[in-house]
Amino acid sequence: MAEGDAELEARLAEQEAFEPSDDFVAQANVTDEGIYEEFEENWPECWDRAGDLLDWDSEYTQTLDDSNPPFYKWFSDGTLNASYNCIDRHIENGEKNRVAIKWEGELGDTRTYTYQDLYREVNEFAAALRDLGVEEDDVVTLYMPMVPELPIAMLACARLGAPHSVVFAGFSAEALATRMQSADSEYLVTCDGYYRRGDALDHLEKANEGLESVDHDTETVVVDRLGDAGHGHSLTENQYDYDELVAEQSGNRIEPVERGAEDMLFLMYTSGTTGQPKGVKHTTGGYLAYAAWTAHSVLDIEKEDTYWCAADIGWITGHSYIVYGPLALGTTTVMYEGTPDYPERDRLWELIEKYSVDIFYTAPTAIRAFMKWGSKFPESRDLSSLRLLGTVGEPINPRAWKWYYKHIGDEDCPVVDTWWQTETGGMMITTLPGIGTMKPGSAGPPLPGIDANIVDTNGEKVEAGRAGYLTVNKPWPGMLRTLYKNDERFINEYWAEYSDLDSDDADDWVYFPEDGAKIDDDDYITILGRVDDVINVSGHRLGTMEIESAIVGVEGVAEAAVVGGNHDVKGEAVYAYVILEDGYEGSDEMSQRIVEGVEDGIGPIARPEQVIFTPELPKTRSGKIMRRLLEEIANGEEELGDTTTLRNPEIVADIQQKVQK
Ligand code: ATP
Ligand code: MG
Repeated sequence: MAEGDAELEARLAEQEAFEPSDDFVAQANVTDEGIYEEFEENWPECWDRAGDLLDWDSEYTQTLDDSNPPFYKWFSDGTLNASYNCIDRHIENGEKNRVAIKWEGELGDTRTYTYQDLYREVNEFAAALRDLGVEEDDVVTLYMPMVPELPIAMLACARLGAPHSVVFAGFSAEALATRMQSADSEYLVTCDGYYRRGDALDHLEKANEGLESVDHDTETVVVDRLGDAGHGHSLTENQYDYDELVAEQSGNRIEPVERGAEDMLFLMYTSGTTGQPKGVKHTTGGYLAYAAWTAHSVLDIEKEDTYWCAADIGWITGHSYIVYGPLALGTTTVMYEGTPDYPERDRLWELIEKYSVDIFYTAPTAIRAFMKWGSKFPESRDLSSLRLLGTVGEPINPRAWKWYYKHIGDEDCPVVDTWWQTETGGMMITTLPGIGTMKPGSAGPPLPGIDANIVDTNGEKVEAGRAGYLTVNKPWPGMLRTLYKNDERFINEYWAEYSDLDSDDADDWVYFPEDGAKIDDDDYITILGRVDDVINVSGHRLGTMEIESAIVGVEGVAEAAVVGGNHDVKGEAVYAYVILEDGYEGSDEMSQRIVEGVEDGIGPIARPEQVIFTPELPKTRSGKIMRRLLEEIANGEEELGDTTTLRNPEIVADIQQKVQK
């Protein structure tokens, strides 16, 4: 090796821009820089490039109908079926034996579905759902872990034109009940249990508890995941065994229901890092076209690839980039049931080696955990099959980006840092890997056709380098259409801030994602975090993200969450919750180094009042820190707000004890 480890670290630490390799560019799906201009000049018809990735039963004649903003319609006179687009057409194109889903359970058991297998099972389950009474437009709730029956059930619903509402399996009974009530959902598909760190968890008990709080009658289908390791529940009168239902329908076929492009494909409740859950409505035409287009252009997926998004399908990322995007493109999508550290901390790398994964997409929270565990785990595996890496979910600090680039991608795979939301349906801001320079810490420019801007409180564009508010000025096909049965809240949540609400002119309507950001001279956008994540110390407004970045820059720190707690004198004071890398201790000296790191990086004003060391932070299913909770803890509140959407509620009491009040 020409370069020593220390030299390499030093070089990477300095480097601010990275280019994709010639080999990557030579094979990439999108390589023509002119695409940005092409989309701008040809807007909105440029979006036909997304629409053209789908097979339509009847072709659309109008790309965008913007006559009634913000209720935009895309491809609206076209008709199609999402299940047909994700399955049948690939079989008609001679791909029936290609693997659609490669599933691996936590214990190492595997299941493989070719497109033909998927076709058979989706049809049979769709037939079973229809027999249970499911009709077009009925909302079917899917409260399921990462088992193949989850995407199968989604596609079966899509085949019937019945919108699904997936509730993350880690959510509580109460969260399930609220969502079923809110969507008037009379059908539930769930599972007896699943494996977590070797334990067979009882999931049906939670589902049953949730069902008790649902006021209307329900029919429930239960997937048997655990077999003999199950918890011995017997099914009640309105509950049916998945395998039996499917066996009864053996060989049956369901004609895909022809849906209007604007008909609802699914409903997804946002994770709720802030306030009441919102039922985000996504459509059959625009959403599917957008998921397919971004999977093609950003994730660079080709049908020959083995592609893996290590997210949970209970999160929008899993909807768009485990199920709909990849399957619409006819590729092989990998699904893994368990945790990344079971049985060992090299589990994900083992899977990449085993399945020869080409493209890997994960979240910064996972990358920080891999960093904490150390590079010896990926180094023990052959990751040379990888061609492209991606991240989503929160800002990734340059140190974690570079670790990912070096230790997982071997400095040979572009990394796409993709900014988007449940509401946007798909990626919005990121580099195109075959074109763009990558700048760690910055997501990149808006995608072609996406009109994102950074503005001040008056909606005026801010200068390069200044912090402001992220806005999107033109609609896009993957956007949410409304909040379920609540148009008023839809307008208040996303449009009221910067739009002229009385205007019929689409130019007067601006989407506000509620994120802070800044832009540089090359139009690269750095996301600073949610606008509500600001701490006011003695009249100075400090972004939590910036303080966290300074703390994570201190050697030995794996992850940090910063919140404001009430303070008699300062108004608010900075509380820093810190996870250390393995091999470091939460000593007074470490605390001191962290405080100094913040003082050096930002200034004494941002000095943490307290540094609290913890092995974990309270997180949502998408791996986002639940700051509201950490704030309540910093304020010494005993009664904490809603914790039903946490994936690790057990850590809360532990942290509470450590905070001095
Ligand atoms: P809720 O809306 O219920 O409070 P949530 O916003 O956490 O939950 P998501 O829709 O999953 O739910 O997350 C979208 C948010 O995640 C974005 O608004 C942004 O704050 C953050 N985010 C996603 N990707 C990135 C990224 N690449 N860089 C920075 N932030 C990101
Ligand atoms: Mg959000």
